[in-house]
Amino acid sequence: MFIGHFAVGFGLKRLAPRAPLAALIAAALWADILWPIFLLLGWEHVRIAVGDTKFTPLDLYDYPWSHSLVMLLVWAAVLALVYRAWRSDTVGAWALAIGVSSHWVLDWVTHRPDMPLYPGGQKFGLGLWNSAPGTMIVELVMFLGGVLLYAGVTRARDRVGRWAFWMYVFFLLILYVGDRFSPPPDSANEIAWTGLIATIVLLAWTWWFDHHREAQPTQVGAQQAAPQVRTMP
Ligand SMILES: [Zn+2]
Repeated sequence: MFIGHFAVGFGLKRLAPRAPLAALIAAALWADILWPIFLLLGWEHVRIAVGDTKFTPLDLYDYPWSHSLVMLLVWAAVLALVYRAWRSDTVGAWALAIGVSSHWVLDWVTHRPDMPLYPGGQKFGLGLWNSAPGTMIVELVMFLGGVLLYAGVTRARDRVGRWAFWMYVFFLLILYVGDRFSPPPDSANEIAWTGLIATIVLLAWTWWFDHHREAQPTQVGAQQAAPQVRTMP
């Protein structure tokens, strides 16, 4: 999945309005952030096999450290603890953990059985990628839902907050559709570098527009009320 992961990041803002959107999206993308790094390090491998599934020319035959369920639960715990130490935002830490773990579920739905339970373990996948229209409909609906949730719990403080946000949404859609019609990559290195650079640019862009938006007043109220409930023994 691609924009489906962004959808989760956007949607999590509703659960955790104080968490930066860039952190929530990075969590949802986490497996795909590690993957290019691990490819470059030679710890994981990919084969280019056009027609392998209808949607992607990639044969994802070896990515246990970035994409197995057990490792993603470990990464979820690590990220949540680091974030909690940084921002003292427990709700945000849980949202990050959900984001990281959600990656396995979404990829399990889309990939053919190449998603390992643990490194070296059995692999699973429902294979939505065997249908290009099916994949696009599911991801676009998810993306729209996530964007609307985010737009509903935040509001622009200025023009950057409004326009940089909507440009970002538009750009992701162009990237998603364009990717369908572009030729397959030449090498695993090309996939890794393109992925890494795109992720850095997109996360910086996310940070930028999210900083020019603020929680809707009702959302802030809900967050402030929460600790009083939680102080009960
Ligand atoms: Zn993935």
